[in-house]
Amino acid sequence: MTTIDVGQGDSIFLALPDGRRLLVDGGGIPSYGGQRAARLDIGEDVVAPYLWNRGIRTVDVIAASHGHEDHIGGLAALVADFHPKELWTGAMPDTPAWRRLRDAAGRGGVTVTAMQAGRRFSWGGAAFDVLAPFPGYTPSDTARNNDSLVMRVRYGRHAFLLTGDIERQVEWEMLDAHEVQPANVVKIPHHGSRTSSTEQFLAAVAPSFAVISAGFENSYGDPHEAVLERLAERRAMVLRTDQEGLVSIRSDGRRLYVETGRRMAARAVTPAW
Ligand SMILES: [Zn+2]
Repeated sequence: MTTIDVGQGDSIFLALPDGRRLLVDGGGIPSYGGQRAARLDIGEDVVAPYLWNRGIRTVDVIAASHGHEDHIGGLAALVADFHPKELWTGAMPDTPAWRRLRDAAGRGGVTVTAMQAGRRFSWGGAAFDVLAPFPGYTPSDTARNNDSLVMRVRYGRHAFLLTGDIERQVEWEMLDAHEVQPANVVKIPHHGSRTSSTEQFLAAVAPSFAVISAGFENSYGDPHEAVLERLAERRAMVLRTDQEGLVSIRSDGRRLYVETGRRMAARAVTPAW
């Protein structure tokens, strides 16, 4: 599982044990008042070059956690570039950002599946459990954090929990449904914002590694001090894209291996004695 440094946003690449590839979110820059904030396309200009650098030309499935631009803004370009067969989504209101992605999927002949809690399946040599959104959840007119797709991916003795931007309400609903199991690795919800990562949720997940995808010196103040304190109390190792750059956690089913952009750079300059 590689969390790509897309600034303030999410983009998580999973290389599955059997070689299949899943990309969850593609970063993006929010547009304000209908105007594009920047000419940079995080998908085309940040995520795609990273994947190409790894020699990756195709991705089997792209997942869109929810409709906010910092998650799906970059995905239209990535659908066009990496030719997924399927697009998995959380709850998607009919917004311009979603229409752009849906149109790209339509042009590429991509099958779109709205995921719901309760779906369990094997894919890529791992076991997938969908924990949210709940069946019957209806999105409002605009994209909301709680629309997010939440998935647990299990392989060997390890579990990885992908949470999108869920807030405490969904954390509590999943806890009520007894759906929150321990996970060795959690992608902390909503960039470490204080809207999320409640005590109860973190207690149930009990992560060894907490990955936070947040922009360097972002204007939201993410990750929030209170969330970092809760993670420190639980002795989770926090890996932040705003500090580490790329964060990769690899499982062979028995052990976990961590590599980050900063640590690789540090190793490269370490003298050989
Ligand atoms: Zn977000």
